[in-house]
Amino acid sequence: MILIDGKKISLELQSEIAVEVKELIAIGMKQPHLAAILVGDDPASQTYVSSKVKACDNVGFKSTLVRFESSVTEQTLLAKIEELNNNDDIDGYIIQLPLPRHISEQKMIEAIHPNKDVDGFHPVNVGRLVLNLPTYISATPFGIIQLLERYDIPTDGKHCVVIGRSNIVGSPMSILMSKNTTVGNCTVTLCHSHTKNLKEHTLNADIIIAAIGKPNFLTADMVKQGAVIIDVGINRVDDTSLTKGFKLVGDVSFAEVSEKASYITPVPGGVGPMTIASLLKNTLIAAKKLV
Ligand code: NDP
Repeated sequence: MILIDGKKISLELQSEIAVEVKELIAIGMKQPHLAAILVGDDPASQTYVSSKVKACDNVGFKSTLVRFESSVTEQTLLAKIEELNNNDDIDGYIIQLPLPRHISEQKMIEAIHPNKDVDGFHPVNVGRLVLNLPTYISATPFGIIQLLERYDIPTDGKHCVVIGRSNIVGSPMSILMSKNTTVGNCTVTLCHSHTKNLKEHTLNADIIIAAIGKPNFLTADMVKQGAVIIDVGINRVDDTSLTKGFKLVGDVSFAEVSEKASYITPVPGGVGPMTIASLLKNTLIAAKKLV
């Protein structure tokens, strides 16, 4: 079994981006610039955004953090989005989700100019993904594709089962794995909570991508010998032996499934760290005006 080290690959990618940024600046390009809008004071969102800002510093990007109180109105947010759309110095920006309930996330996403939508959530970018046109692939699926690529995991002609059909992970993942691309060309089965006999599908899978949000959901009896296992889940479970009182586990029952897998991502340290590297990659693509 080979453990897929997302932390290591993420750092490698960030070093490569840093080198490319230096080269681009040396030939006269401006410093790539990522902005982030953060609403409210949710601790998890604050942590995510500050890691993104720190990662920008590490690779030589400029970053701008725009903060609003959780009571902000849609109108004020839309005005800021418009301002960022028209600011030529900003190559791309994200709105950290979730937003307070009185704000429509969809409305905000649709207000972002598609060329600056480095999270890849705008309907235009999702449509471009489906049509095989240059686009921003949302960070988590993009990270998974890069892991498969860096570990040289064969995908051509394989049967890939994706569990979960969310807009940000499962659905784009299923599209990417079925594309006629180097990492792709799989026959894809997309499973969800209405799937009957899930185990029959997973037992036939060469590659399983689990994005469900249920701790230790995928067990060894659901996996065939030698399968590649990508665990997207990040779930908190109580652990009184730790001072913080909880630990993070994936959607895959790691101890037992790793005995059968050919490759497997751990949680933490697998898919998670790739998200930031992918966002930085998308920002570089934006700065180079490739979308
Ligand atoms: P969602 O809750 O949006 O989607 C979960 C999906 O799982 C749904 O499509 C749901 O089906 C399906 N599902 C639920 N129960 C079952 C079941 N019993 N059998 C089969 N399918 C089921 O979650 P996300 O996609 O946003 O996230 C999934 C997990 O990945 C979470 O743990 C999240 O924290 C993590 N995550 C990790 C990231 C990372 O960077 N590593 C980034 C994003 C998410 P249905 O559509 O029918 O309801």
